[in-house]
Amino acid sequence: MPLLILLYMSEIKLRFMKRALELGEQVRNKTGDNPWVGCVIVRGEKVLGEGHTHPPGEAHAEADAILNAEKQGHSLTGSTLYCTLEPCSFHGRTPSCAETIVKKQISHVVIAIRDPHPKVNAAGVRMLRESGVLVTEGIEEQDARKSLKDWLLKYE
Ligand SMILES: [Zn+2]
Repeated sequence: MPLLILLYMSEIKLRFMKRALELGEQVRNKTGDNPWVGCVIVRGEKVLGEGHTHPPGEAHAEADAILNAEKQGHSLTGSTLYCTLEPCSFHGRTPSCAETIVKKQISHVVIAIRDPHPKVNAAGVRMLRESGVLVTEGIEEQDARKSLKDWLLKYE
């Protein structure tokens, strides 16, 4: 593995992704046709905000965690966002999470799995990378696939 990737990997804390999975599980089957996603935003060891998906038309997990962090007075510049699913790339019922992440100057996004939704499917990751955000994929991937299995079935 290239050294640069190893350095990035060393900054990734599995427990934050595990926490994001837990937050997602808390709203299983309470999010309408949206996936039950969890999100944690950190700087170093400090958790700035946590969130989960809300019913259709309301905040996605990323937007929820951003709001939660800002309510506590935290700036998100240079922070790391852990999300169980790839941030959405298009403005649907809510603004695009990838765009919001860029706007808030979050510098690193760690995801478990990509969003198989035909309008996202790697477009969220691409949008983030093109805007200079570091993206790490596949962290706790198996657990995320297990957690979101029922929702993922729609796309198989
Ligand atoms: Zn979203």
